[in-house]
Amino acid sequence: MTKLSCNCGFTVENADRYKVEAAMWHHAIHDHADMLKTMTVDMLEEWLKNKDKQLASA
Ligand SMILES: [Zn+2]
Repeated sequence: MTKLSCNCGFTVENADRYKVEAAMWHHAIHDHADMLKTMTVDMLEEWLKNKDKQLASA
């Protein structure tokens, strides 16, 4: 089971890692749109790396 959790407490769990990633993006776009818009490319890169680490350790 693959699992990702957001800093706000939102958690998504599924056997398919792409469904998990898609659900996390959907959540982030809807609930953290303002934050995403202020993020630089470098910040997004770090964010993606952290998500990959979470996915790899699951
Ligand atoms: Zn969140």
